[in-house]
Amino acid sequence: MKILSGLVVSEYILEGICDGLKGPLKRSPCLVFVLVGHHAPSETYVSMKVKACEKVGMVSKVIRLEETISKLLLEEMILEFNKDETVDGVIIQMPLPRHLEQIPLLIAPDKDVDGFTPTNMGKLVLGDLNGLIPCTPQGIFYLLRHYNISLENKHVAIMGRSQIVGKPLANLLSLKIPFANASISLLHSGSKDLKAITQTADVLVVAIGQKEYVDASYIKQGAVVVDVGIHRHQGKIYGDCQKDSLSLKASAYTPVPGGVGPMTIACLLLNTFCSYKQKFKEAGSSRLVFDRHLLTRTS
Ligand code: NDP
Repeated sequence: MKILSGLVVSEYILEGICDGLKGPLKRSPCLVFVLVGHHAPSETYVSMKVKACEKVGMVSKVIRLEETISKLLLEEMILEFNKDETVDGVIIQMPLPRHLEQIPLLIAPDKDVDGFTPTNMGKLVLGDLNGLIPCTPQGIFYLLRHYNISLENKHVAIMGRSQIVGKPLANLLSLKIPFANASISLLHSGSKDLKAITQTADVLVVAIGQKEYVDASYIKQGAVVVDVGIHRHQGKIYGDCQKDSLSLKASAYTPVPGGVGPMTIACLLLNTFCSYKQKFKEAGSSRLVFDRHLLTRTS
């Protein structure tokens, strides 16, 4: 079973961003993180993203707020960031207290580097790749493409239909673009005869949030398995799949850790880079130019 290393491919993306930021800059790209309350995994994710920013020379600002903050105050803060010419991306780290859950929808589409606002989601559904594409689906696409795994005419089964992984991934991988153009089965907890469907898939993506749930009985011989899950348990990190069981049958697998996780962070920075470049309308600002650059680096 071949290991599809997100550590290796994310390095290419980060190097590409560093190259794109060489030369005299009007200012460095800036990404703002809003952390509400005290949630240990969120602290970990934000500190990983801040480190990645430092690595490529982006400025990051972490705004820490108590979970009692009013909706109105946080709304005003986001609208200020939307107007601020020195800010290229805004992330409100999930989960949020219930009274604040709708706030991320207020982020300006050109600063929505998570790609979750209706404008960016809508562009993806319509096949307009000039929007900001959600980071995990984008990372999965680049990871498979790096290893020359084309999805053209393939059956991709996706377990999990969340707004941040399953749904945008189904839209991205079914677009009529090189390396995608797949036929998709989007599965969830109510899917009947789920195994019968996953067993016919050429590629199985698992994003269900259930520790080591999927084993070899879910796949056909030679399938590629993308494990999106992240579970921290007694100091170790696990995925949604049982790697040892899959190794007998799968042709390739994205490990946890070191698979989709680092790709998600790299694509967050890539979205911030694109948002920054668009502001200055510089050469190389379009995703397509960057895409070609990535293709050259990885082929
Ligand atoms: P959600 O909890 O939002 O959604 C889970 C989805 O899986 C739902 O659609 C649910 O169905 C479906 N589901 C649950 N159990 C089953 C089952 N037994 N069979 C089929 N479908 C099932 O998950 P997220 O997408 O937010 O996250 C999924 C996992 O990925 C988590 O472990 C998370 O930590 C990880 N993650 C990792 C990222 C990375 O960068 N590597 C990024 C984002 C998430 P229904 O809709 O019917 O409830």
